[in-house]
Amino acid sequence: MKTLRWKFLTAFLLASLVFPAPSWANTYAKTKYPIVLVHGLFGFDSIAGVEYWYDIPESLRAEGATVYVDTVSAANSTQVRGEQLLLQVQQILAATGAQKVNLIGHSHGGPTIRYVAAVAPNLVASVTSVNGVNKGSAVADVLLGVAPPGSLSNSILVSVANGLASLIDFLSGSPTLPENALAAAQSLSTSGSLAFNKLYPQGVPTSACGNGDAQVNGVYYFSWTGKAQVTNILDITDPFLTLSSLAFAGAPNDGLVGTCSAHLGTVISDSYPQNHLDAVNQLLGLVDIFATNPVTLYENQANRLKGLGL
Ligand code: CA
Repeated sequence: MKTLRWKFLTAFLLASLVFPAPSWANTYAKTKYPIVLVHGLFGFDSIAGVEYWYDIPESLRAEGATVYVDTVSAANSTQVRGEQLLLQVQQILAATGAQKVNLIGHSHGGPTIRYVAAVAPNLVASVTSVNGVNKGSAVADVLLGVAPPGSLSNSILVSVANGLASLIDFLSGSPTLPENALAAAQSLSTSGSLAFNKLYPQGVPTSACGNGDAQVNGVYYFSWTGKAQVTNILDITDPFLTLSSLAFAGAPNDGLVGTCSAHLGTVISDSYPQNHLDAVNQLLGLVDIFATNPVTLYENQANRLKGLGL
């Protein structure tokens, strides 16, 4: 047995000598600082092997990036999620020896990463908000408006949402994270978002639909979003996003977030032919096959950060 092991080891060492480090080893996404991906409402790191960021971490790693996929409470207020993320960022910095991280957040992950950048800018190189709920969502407004807190329908709604969120956390191996769907909905409402933005205004455009500051307290701010609902007839989530988009009364949106609400810092684009779930390459990679693949957008952003020395 020992001899066999030695044979394998020798063969491996010889192979290493014969085949040097591949020249094709890609560094396109090799940022200086680790990339941390932060999920949105009802997010998860994986369920039964299906990742939230479908095929995104692997693709970034294949291009040379160091990537962490974070898990915060699926449904909770931005501040609660932000404090959880801050702790995890500190752990990542301790584990890697890196001085900062590049934060990328989808949906509610947008405000969540903004919180960390606002309270600990020295730990954050960049904030990238993808289809982020930076100025609230009309869908959350409708949910809260149709069923105001305290009513029976609202309590049922909250129970269902809490149950779903707990299930997701359970399946993804984080059953102890606190869930509070009502706090999440309030954070994602227009009034809740505006109150949050007063406390943490970094990168948020002061105009209705312009760019925000490109850099605040040494942190770079970026965003992108899409403005489509139905992008792939095979994706069973598209009809749901078509229904929820009715909340926007015709204003451009990705099914769950208005285009202008997603603006933050330097707006890379606000008109990709992607809906809210396409932004994380869901469901299972079912996106508009004629458009730039969402995974490519993350690779391009990593390359952009690399170019800035981040
Ligand atoms: Ca899709």
